[in-house]
Amino acid sequence: MSQIDHLPPLRDVIERFDLRAKKALGQNFLLDLNLTARIARAAGDLAGSDIIEVGPGPGGLTRGLLAEGARKVLAIEKDGRCLPALAEIAEAYPGRLQVIEGDALEIDPLAHLTPPIKIVANLPYNVGTELLVRWLTPKEWPPFWSTLTLMFQKEVAERIVAKPGSKAYGRLALLAQWRCDARIVLTLPPGAFTPPPKIDSAVVHLTALPEPRFPADAKTLERVVAAAFNQRRKMLRSSLRSLDPNAESRLERLGIRPTARAEEIGLEQFCALARDFG
Ligand code: SAM
Repeated sequence: MSQIDHLPPLRDVIERFDLRAKKALGQNFLLDLNLTARIARAAGDLAGSDIIEVGPGPGGLTRGLLAEGARKVLAIEKDGRCLPALAEIAEAYPGRLQVIEGDALEIDPLAHLTPPIKIVANLPYNVGTELLVRWLTPKEWPPFWSTLTLMFQKEVAERIVAKPGSKAYGRLALLAQWRCDARIVLTLPPGAFTPPPKIDSAVVHLTALPEPRFPADAKTLERVVAAAFNQRRKMLRSSLRSLDPNAESRLERLGIRPTARAEEIGLEQFCALARDFG
């Protein structure tokens, strides 16, 4: 196997620092550095960007990002046991890796970074969706990041890129596709990780669009989508009644069949609904 750097193999790092995986922290490590370099390349040209990595663990993806030329990596890791392993990487790439110990849900990393900023992470399963929704719903658009390259459970990745009419289509697809291009760039079997999770994983690459595809107020759109999919098997005229008792006449006025179900409605129509409810 070709080497991507002169640091020791990750299996040795894990043994030396006794980094046995903790389930509570969503720890499933990638030990194949060729694979982590491939994920880093999926994030595009890294040379002119600062990278935020959530959950570097023993540093496989971190090493991939640095070897692929990232200008700077800011890594946020909750598990203090990983810090000595990450310090070795920082030493091998002087001035290019900064590690913050803490919870990514509580840390605002922006003060440490210079745009353009990309986010690349093999996310802990327990916080992955929450972080994604935060990155997709800032007050201002375009957001502080230019691209997100994120590993999720495959089922979550499919919900992000889903199209109307599919079972996976819902809130995540609409939030992501309203203001981003989103595609799955890599699918990985459980055996790619140590320990192996029960299910397949997939990397999603999202590029922030300069403007939303259709005008709408973000909060109202979120409200309409939440109400519509809260009871996804119901017809819109009844699921949207929670927002307006006269939802049926609004739908008719907008040319949307009141008997349609949420999963049949495309982004453009949801944005039209949000403007009407706004
Ligand atoms: N990036 C490494 C890799 O690809 O092998 C590890 C990925 S592992 C799926 C998720 C990592 O996120 C773990 O190292 C875990 O300790 C860390 N983590 C879990 N919850 C976190 C949180 N709230 N904030 C920051 N890191 C967290």
